[in-house]
Amino acid sequence: MNLESEICANCGRSIGRLEEPYLWQSQIVCAECHSRLSCDQAPAPSPPAPNPAGLGKPSIISTIGALRLGCGCWNCLWGLLFSLILFFSLLGVFCMPFSLALIPLGIFEIIDGANLLKAVPEKPKWPKGLAILEIVAGVLASLPSAVVGILILVFLSRDDARSFMAGMGVEGFN
Ligand SMILES: [Zn+2]
Repeated sequence: MNLESEICANCGRSIGRLEEPYLWQSQIVCAECHSRLSCDQAPAPSPPAPNPAGLGKPSIISTIGALRLGCGCWNCLWGLLFSLILFFSLLGVFCMPFSLALIPLGIFEIIDGANLLKAVPEKPKWPKGLAILEIVAGVLASLPSAVVGILILVFLSRDDARSFMAGMGVEGFN
């Protein structure tokens, strides 16, 4: 039986005879030092992955994006067709500003809808305002646009959509 007590190479205290000496990189250390050294050696827990705005997108946002994208395509096509119809009809020419306005609106809708469909969308600039324009345009010249605008306003009032927009820092969703 070894009567000489071991000396911990780390803290320098003698390791009692009934204590179990541990080996740390071919040095004898006490139990506490061994567990402390093992702890230091263990890889630091990796910091939580940064949570970019837009992560955890609720499915309602994709639904809004798809509706808006489809409505944008419709408004572009219908705006063009409706303008042609008005152009070739008497007095209809005076209504053409309304029909032609559908085309830029449709382009904005396509851009906004495509963004909302992305896995991690960028901050939407004017999600509610665009819905109101969709309704106004719909009442004037393109009924499907009004339906989509109302649907989007309803969807945007849902809790999951609201908290997503608020998380993105969009104004009016706090
Ligand atoms: Zn020690």
